[in-house]
Amino acid sequence: MGEQTGRKKQTGKSALKMQPVSSAAAEFTFQIPAVEIARSLLEWFKPEARPMPWRDPRSEGTPLSDYAYGIWISESMLQQTQVSTVIPYWKRWMEKWPRVASLAAACEEEVLLMWEGLGYYNRARNLLKAARKVMEIHGGVFPSRHEELLELPGVGPYTAGAVCSIAYNHPRAIVDGNVIRLLSRLFTLSFTQRPSELKPQDLLWQISESLVRAAAEIEHPQSCSAFNQAMMDMGATICTPTNPLCLTCPLSPHCKAYKEQSQSQYPQPPARPALVLREDTALLVRDAGKNILLQKRTATGRNHGFWQLPLVENTPLPKAQEAFHPLRLSFISREPLARLQHHITCYRITLKVYPGKTDGGFSQGENLRFFSEKELGAIPVTSSHRKLLQKIL
Ligand code: SF4
Repeated sequence: MGEQTGRKKQTGKSALKMQPVSSAAAEFTFQIPAVEIARSLLEWFKPEARPMPWRDPRSEGTPLSDYAYGIWISESMLQQTQVSTVIPYWKRWMEKWPRVASLAAACEEEVLLMWEGLGYYNRARNLLKAARKVMEIHGGVFPSRHEELLELPGVGPYTAGAVCSIAYNHPRAIVDGNVIRLLSRLFTLSFTQRPSELKPQDLLWQISESLVRAAAEIEHPQSCSAFNQAMMDMGATICTPTNPLCLTCPLSPHCKAYKEQSQSQYPQPPARPALVLREDTALLVRDAGKNILLQKRTATGRNHGFWQLPLVENTPLPKAQEAFHPLRLSFISREPLARLQHHITCYRITLKVYPGKTDGGFSQGENLRFFSEKELGAIPVTSSHRKLLQKIL
């Protein structure tokens, strides 16, 4: 618990105290009633906390480190995913790997299968790598220090802040989409970056830290933990993207957007880059046994290590014909078997699949091989190609 503030806890109601928050980047300083906001949220959270299995009180004899491990798993699963979806995944995961040592002993395929359906598979891989690192460096004790958490694969400032505050009750900031919406309405803040690009030194991180430090001043058994969870719940249930429930909001007396009735203007979305249209071309190639040819994505980055139909990006017919020559593949027909539209960052992609065949001289390799339809269920396949294969098969 090395990060407790150690400051004297406040007991009674205090006059509205303003605490300065400054931002070098934004070149201004402004004052927030941090203790009052923290107290209002803590009072609201007591009866309103959403039940979630990882929030259940730590059972007697469970080491704090094991509890922190469960919080870490939940926070990793919750990124871009709803609580109701995560709950069954979390329960299954904790039953199979109840502590960091059991996860560290798992193999990557098991972990990916357990994660299947949650997307963003690098997160699952990073959980495994991080668990092994915790065994190696920390002797299986899940770290409590922010700096140590940040050294684990896949752990960024949000996850480190969530684990430190929720599990260990340290006054560490969290900033995610819900918190951004809540804070930007409370203080009518606009920003030009995307939420994922905000750095801990940015204004919203500083406000969040100032608030959780104020919560640490309040007489409460787990004030930092409860405060950050209250911010998350407020953003999810009261200060919702549309039609926020301001009349029942405990923060309405402090909320500038409510006073101005400008809630719908915050958070102001950063300008989005223009959409770029792209057409990708894939081939469905079967061998005599009806097995399907797949290619492994070897480039680092998105979907690294996943399988997909042989593909050329940003290359429609007729140019795609040439692009498949190095793989010794060619088209049987110019009529697509199926097509799919999807988005990746600023690209709107039309993916077309054509019937194809192998040419003389083709040979399978480690990254280009045939799989039976049954085997497809046991290997990681990119989601767009899995959808296409489902359509075709
Ligand atoms: S008063 Fe309304 S806009 Fe302001 S924080 Fe509460 S719910 Fe959000």
